[in-house]
Amino acid sequence: VPELPEVETVRLGLNATTCGLTMTAVAVLLDRTVTFPQDQEAFCAGLQSVQILEWKRRGKYLLATLVQEAASGSTQAAGWLGVHLRMTGQLLWLSADTPLHKHTRVQFFFNKGQELRFVDQRTFGRVWWIPPTEEPATYITGLAHLGPEPLSADFSSQYWATVCQRRQRPIKTALLDQTLIAGLGNIYADESLFLSGIHPSCLCKALTPQQTERLHGVIREVLQTALIQGGTTFSDFRQVSGINGNYGRVAWVYRRRGQPCRQCGTLIETIRLAGRSCHFCPQCQPKR
Ligand SMILES: [Zn+2]
Repeated sequence: VPELPEVETVRLGLNATTCGLTMTAVAVLLDRTVTFPQDQEAFCAGLQSVQILEWKRRGKYLLATLVQEAASGSTQAAGWLGVHLRMTGQLLWLSADTPLHKHTRVQFFFNKGQELRFVDQRTFGRVWWIPPTEEPATYITGLAHLGPEPLSADFSSQYWATVCQRRQRPIKTALLDQTLIAGLGNIYADESLFLSGIHPSCLCKALTPQQTERLHGVIREVLQTALIQGGTTFSDFRQVSGINGNYGRVAWVYRRRGQPCRQCGTLIETIRLAGRSCHFCPQCQPKR
């Protein structure tokens, strides 16, 4: 499941490939992938002849700023293309003669025989076209409620301390709450808790100021390391070019249930919290 580092890696790949080319046509192969406009023809028509100026990322959302050549020859705004990869979504930049993968949901055709394909096995992924007269957050509703970017100045240690002090719930569920911190998912949440020595079911309020501070720093370190490595491959994440992002990075606890802790040898355990499995070392992450 792509999290902040993976989505950011996809964004960099898209910026390096799709910008400045003209989108000649769009084909929607699965209706429900397109969330807005609900009218599929309006979605395709809105993207006809646009150029991508730049891809931005907010949390796990990708948002392309679109422009179009006006009759006068000048450039005008043409709205935004939004994408959320969710569980298994992939954006692949391919030559248009590449055989179609059976899980292809949307094809964005560009000039020069290039194509951007949205491939998504589990079909939870979503795309939006937002007209230039509208605000993206009006239709991409998750955008309006996102918490701070963990690598930005908004995610200060003071902010994080306040978040934790006020909440009577397990720290793991707080880490996954996109309204408190944007972009984290199960992998980086579990890894961050291990490196902070905090049990996933520990209540936010029960954390000491030292633990809160340590966790704040660890989250940033873990994400930054993963970014430098081009997004990790704890799952089957693929970069835009189709290259697997695996640089040999090894998880401390994620998906290591029953295997010895790399730090102390105790067997890694899992518990379920709010429907998600949490991987942890009972020795290194004692429950207080
Ligand atoms: Zn351990």
